[in-house]
Amino acid sequence: MQLEQLREIVCAANLELVRQGLVTLTWGNVSGIDRGRGLMVIKPSGVAYDRLTPAALVITDLDGNVVEGDYAPSSDTATHVRLYQAFPNIGGVVHTHSTYATSFAQAGREIPCLGTTHADHFQGSVPVARLPTAAEVRERYEHNIGGLIVERFRDLDPDALPAVLAAGHGPFTWGPDPRQAVENAVALEAVAQMAAATFALCPDAAPLPAYILDKHYGRKHGPGAYYGQRNIQ
Ligand code: 13P
Repeated sequence: MQLEQLREIVCAANLELVRQGLVTLTWGNVSGIDRGRGLMVIKPSGVAYDRLTPAALVITDLDGNVVEGDYAPSSDTATHVRLYQAFPNIGGVVHTHSTYATSFAQAGREIPCLGTTHADHFQGSVPVARLPTAAEVRERYEHNIGGLIVERFRDLDPDALPAVLAAGHGPFTWGPDPRQAVENAVALEAVAQMAAATFALCPDAAPLPAYILDKHYGRKHGPGAYYGQRNIQ
């Protein structure tokens, strides 16, 4: 894929966040990676979505250094880089401050799998990465946020659980490409809203039994998946 094509894809993914109602003002960013070239394309920091064009995106290397672009990259660039370094199968990363997922992050509360809507997308509870310490905020803050996410995934599979809540901050999602990372952000916000409503109706709501969770996740994403149509993306 040409880099210009990745620019178009990352721009479209950023604009899709707006279309899906996941961003307020400039609270959010999407990136995509070209692993072959060792380059990342990411939203410029603080640039209004209605002024976003493929040419306005910033290209960095995999240390987050700007290689090409008129603007400064997203303030979360080092977090994106850290996730690409640690999770080898991902091709896109999304950060938003979508209302319900961010509310769980602010509560420091994971999102348990309460029903099959969640199980169709995430193979278990969406975890919380802990708050950074004062020292972790002082030095290389955004890099450290990425590190806390990676640490939280030490015993988790980022491909089966493509979402996390950064405590006190908000959600990060990822996927094989930027479009699917956005899709995971949409699904995350929907299941967070449903979980909040479920807990309001029933504060003791129990997680879905594992055998139902595994059935739903497996029929869509497992080796014998049969959800959807063959050969249609
Ligand atoms: P940027 O505009 O720098 O990407 O920041 C948006 C954001 O959501 C910060 O957490």
